[in-house]
Amino acid sequence: MQGGTFRNWALRFANVPRKYALPTTRAQIVELIKRPGRLRVVGSGHSFNDGIVTDDTLVSLDNYSGVLRIDIDNQQLTFRAGTRVRDAVAIMLQHGLAFTALPSHDAQSLGGILSTDVHGTGKDWGFVSESVVGLTIVDGTGEIHRCGPDDDLFRAAIGGVGAVGIITEVTVQGVPRFAIDQQTSIQELAWVREHLDLLIAGHDHVSLYLFPYAEHCQVNTWDRTAADKTSGGELKEFLNISLDALLAAWVGNLLAYAGLLPLARHWSRLAYLLRRGTQLVMESNNAHNRTIYHLHQELEFTVDFEQVFEVCDRLLALYAELYRAGLPYLLLEVRFTPAGHDRTLIGAGQQRRCAWIDLICNDSEGFETYYAAAVELIKSVGGRPHLGKYTEGFDGNYLAGLYEPNYQRFLELVAQHDPDGKFSNAFTRRMFGTPIEVSSEHAA
Ligand SMILES: Cc1cc2nc3c(=O)[nH]c(=O)nc-3n(C[C@H](O)[C@H](O)[C@H](O)COP(=O)(O)OP(=O)(O)OC[C@H]3O[C@@H](n4cnc5c(N)ncnc54)[C@H](O)[C@@H]3O)c2cc1C
Repeated sequence: MQGGTFRNWALRFANVPRKYALPTTRAQIVELIKRPGRLRVVGSGHSFNDGIVTDDTLVSLDNYSGVLRIDIDNQQLTFRAGTRVRDAVAIMLQHGLAFTALPSHDAQSLGGILSTDVHGTGKDWGFVSESVVGLTIVDGTGEIHRCGPDDDLFRAAIGGVGAVGIITEVTVQGVPRFAIDQQTSIQELAWVREHLDLLIAGHDHVSLYLFPYAEHCQVNTWDRTAADKTSGGELKEFLNISLDALLAAWVGNLLAYAGLLPLARHWSRLAYLLRRGTQLVMESNNAHNRTIYHLHQELEFTVDFEQVFEVCDRLLALYAELYRAGLPYLLLEVRFTPAGHDRTLIGAGQQRRCAWIDLICNDSEGFETYYAAAVELIKSVGGRPHLGKYTEGFDGNYLAGLYEPNYQRFLELVAQHDPDGKFSNAFTRRMFGTPIEVSSEHAA
């Protein structure tokens, strides 16, 4: 927040809320909800859509953070929901504990990460919500609810982008801290296509980077290990990710706009021949989380696991088709989540084994043209959008078609817990339909 204007991390959404509130207690959060008018909550603003945009009250949980309870016997910690992942991780490490696994960044708040059902990649793990055994939620009437993974309210809050209430506390189930062997390598895409199942079965976590025009891709793997940590591993990782960010931001865009990206097949072959790759053993959180990113936008969705390469091929062909009109650098990050690990009513990873395809575009001229065309393609294959990423072009009708009967159940819970549309904004109205208007006695 600067000079009254709030901007999200990717700087695409800027708005001036009428009031900006920084509560320090749950009682203050309840009081804010009971006041007239609407409100939206912001964690760290790392989502890529207008979920946090409001011209009424914006509630930041930055001052509602830190640990509330530590239950060492059960390895469980309860955090205030504004706690950033990196801070939760540091506190857990002090007690010899860690998250089972984590997504790729650590600056987000626990409340935000759960509200958008953040995922990673794994053979036997997929979602941050898997590590959560309890939530406290303040709903739109100011009522406080404690719920666990078997409750519908919990499943509506996970991935429900704040529509049923504000998550105020999160109880995390830790595991004893451990090290991870992180490896990256350049492989022939044809080989990866043929051996994807084996690759996933052989590692705890696998992700792929696919590049336009290239015949090779980057394979990233993470495996729990008892091996000693690499000396200076964190520094080496810092240098690796800094180089990646610089290459993507500057060299990637320079080549893209100079029309040279079609030559990528030669560079990827060279990288393959040179066996460019890395191997580091690090504390688990340092391996799972990257801390440096260049400014970019993301449009991410899931498809059935079996569709993964067919859909990636079509997205890369679409990029090639539009490329001459002037597109920025693009990378497809592909991750995998198993069936039966989700705890959500309307999250994109529910119920089936999924491939997550993330269209990571540099934040510069042309990315909206590509995204608009990609959204039509995604809809034509029944792709399910990640509600923490670019969502323009998707709406409630489309989500209803993807998630019935869960979507209907979700709407019932929204109506029950936010009868006055306290938490509604343009984003929720697009995604979940028009709620009951704020009643006259609540109008500002
Ligand atoms: C560099 C980078 C890397 C990323 N990596 C991943 C990844 O690996 N996997 C993945 O799935 N996503 C990833 N994301 C997406 C993003 O981190 C998430 O979608 C998440 O929402 C961000 O958390 P936040 O605290 O910034 O939430 P915000 O952006 O502040 O909020 C997200 C939404 O949740 C609502 N909300 C926030 N806090 C609460 C709360 N306490 N109670 C109720 N509603 C709330 C907000 O109103 C908003 O609609 C990444 C994003 C970036 C920028």
